[in-house]
This record gives sequence, C-alpha cells and structure tokens, in this order.
Amino acid sequence: MEEVRVFPLTCAVQNYAWGKIGLDSEVAKLVVGGDPLAVIEGDKPYAELWMGAHPKGDAQIKDNRIAQTTLGQWIAHYPACLGSKVKDAFQGQLPFLFKVLSVNTALSIQAHPNKELAATLHAQFPEHYPDNNHKPEMAIALTRFQGLCGFRPVDEILGFLQAVPEFHALVGRDAAEELRSSVGDEVRTGRALKKCFTKMMSCEKKVFVDELNELVKRVTQEGAAGKDTSSSNGDLLLRLHSQYPGDIGCFSIYFLNYVVLEPGQAMFLGANEPHAYIYGDCIECMACSDNTVRAGLTRKYIDVNTLCEMLNYKPASAFSKIFPCVSDPADPCVTLYDPPVPDFTVMKIQVPASVKDYTVASVDSASILLVIEGDATATSAAAFPDVTLTRGSVLFVSANESVSLQVTSQSGMTLFRACSLL
Ligand SMILES: [Zn+2]
Repeated sequence: MEEVRVFPLTCAVQNYAWGKIGLDSEVAKLVVGGDPLAVIEGDKPYAELWMGAHPKGDAQIKDNRIAQTTLGQWIAHYPACLGSKVKDAFQGQLPFLFKVLSVNTALSIQAHPNKELAATLHAQFPEHYPDNNHKPEMAIALTRFQGLCGFRPVDEILGFLQAVPEFHALVGRDAAEELRSSVGDEVRTGRALKKCFTKMMSCEKKVFVDELNELVKRVTQEGAAGKDTSSSNGDLLLRLHSQYPGDIGCFSIYFLNYVVLEPGQAMFLGANEPHAYIYGDCIECMACSDNTVRAGLTRKYIDVNTLCEMLNYKPASAFSKIFPCVSDPADPCVTLYDPPVPDFTVMKIQVPASVKDYTVASVDSASILLVIEGDATATSAAAFPDVTLTRGSVLFVSANESVSLQVTSQSGMTLFRACSLL
C-alpha cells in the first residue's frame, strides 16, 4: 500500500471546569459536527479541543489502514512528515499545539517565560515548571472574545489609583507617588510600575481580602443606587469576584488592559506578557510547553517572586494588543497570523461561495487543518480514498502535500490551519 500522509483526526476534548457548558460550547459544536455519533452531555463543560500530538491529548488517527493509533506515534515513525527544516529545528516533534477554547469563566492571570528563564525555572523547580521550553501563544476570536492583556497606559492606572481607594491602599502611597512622578520617563515608569505591581502582589492575604470585600461592597451599593461604577471598572470587578471571591487577581483589572476581540481579531502573547482569558470562543495556537507563571484568578500555586521579576512592564493601549494579521500575497483566500516566533503560524482560509474547487497549497512543514464552516470532499495524492469534510473535521497534512477541496456547501467554507513557517 502506498503511504498515507494526509488523514483525518479525532481530537482530544478537555472538560476543564471553566469551559462553556454543553452545546453552548464551540468545542462541543465542533465535536458533534466532526462526529455525528459523539454524545454531548448538556451539563458538562467543554473547554478545549486539542489538535496535536501532546502526550496529555494526543489525537487519534481516523484511518484504519494506518498501524499507529495516535498522531504522536505516527510522527515518531515518520518524522519526515514534519518537513526537513522543522524536523531538524524541533528534534522530530510537531512544534505546536493547535486548540479551540470555549471560555465561560475566567482563566488564571498568567505569563509564560522566555526560553532562557524556562530553562532556569525547570532546573530549579521541575515540579512547577515541567519543561524547558518557552510558550508563546496566539488567540484568534471565533466569537466576541474578552481578555486581559499587558499593562495599561500609565494615565489609566493613575486614574484607578485615584478613583479606587481600596486599590490605592494595596499599592501604597510611596509606590503610587513614584509612578505618578515617573510620567514621561519610560525607564523610570517601568521601574515604578514594577514596584507598584510587586507591592500589590506581595500584600498579605488578610489585607487584600479585606480591601476587596470593601471594594465589592461599595461598588455593589453604588450600582444598586443607579450610579455609574465605570471609574472603578465595576462590572468587570463584580464578574471576576463572583467567579473568584477573595482572589488578588480581581485587583489586576486596574493594571491590565481589558481587550475585546471581534471574530477574526487576534492577540499574540509573547514571553513575559501578563494575560488572562475571560469569556468567549477562540482558536489558539502555542508552542509545545506547559510553563505558566500565575498571578491570580486561580486556586493553583502563585510564584510571586518569579512573576514580578519576569513581567514585561511596558504600558501600552488595549488597541495595541490586537495582533495585525495580513492577507497572503500568494492567495487572496488566506489571512496570515504570523507571530515573531518560529514555532507556529496560523492561517485562516475563507473560500467564497463562488469558488467550488480550491487547493489548500502545500507548505514545507506539517500542518493541521480545522473546518469551522462548510462542507467539501478533500482529495490528495497522499490520502485515498477521498475524505469528506464537514464543520469540525480535522485533517493532518504532511509537509509538501497539497489538498484539493471540492466545496459542496452553498455558502463557501472557513478553515483554520496551523503550521510552522521557518
Ligand atoms: Zn497563557
């Protein structure tokens, strides 16, 4: 039998508690789309779909002519499928993990170390930092997607220090004054911001819980009296507090930008960028790593020292956190989300209704293709017989293989593809 190098996958679902419930979840919708026999439980969270070869969620191969059961096993047998550049650069491993996330309640505020710090942390504390790799991430909204990302412009933080006395109390008068007087001097501002954030994160639990309760009480009363609470970021505060009562992360909304992505918009989370996902569905792609340093909205371990040392204390607007995507000069149907790291690139492929025959071009790395909308019959010299694609279908495509789509849906097709363009 000729070698099969393009094949469909059944991907792993993670039912983390923060996921959207039942068929509200984009993850669950994609799962039933890709497999009509799949059973979705109406009261269960469907948080993440993992499309890749990560040992905690290695995709199953949906082609019974292939001896291996999972994608990871298959890549180990045929590392040439990665493409020669990727195979050499990433030691025979698929360099990325491609995901869909459906977020119902906030995920922890976090940052990921760069390669150098990851190696140091892993050597010192392997129980908290399981590998030595960096973990850049890209999130592309499928529905309106809300998150926190990066430090706010200083005037916004100063505004909250003035308007929210409970927040001011945690930062302290000295640090707050240092931040105020640093305006206009980038280096001093970075230092002062670090001091302010570190002061807050180092507060004793009893102190910040009291201040938080005070703040929540005040904002609740103001809201009930019909007052505008936006100067205290009241709506977001109450939402996060209802999900994580007594958590220091509730105060981070005064330091970090609140970013709302419309469908198709993206944010890229490079090393040391503080971030949290709050609500919505997105495509996510990341380098293969589990290294996360947490800063709140979590019941997990918080390493305050490492966190406060590593963060990127560069204030910038929420708008500047939206990652610019570009149209592929070689193909008007393709939008490229190409972050400044070698591990991954994401492409959005939109086949218009007028196009019935479309070729997913070959790239020189392995890639994973997810159908978000539309139906097609896929043919490839490396996959036989043809594969029927519907919403939720996931296809593994070896390096240098192209796939022809015969689109059968009336309204075109939308696909996302992850690959590594070295
Ligand atoms: Zn992250």
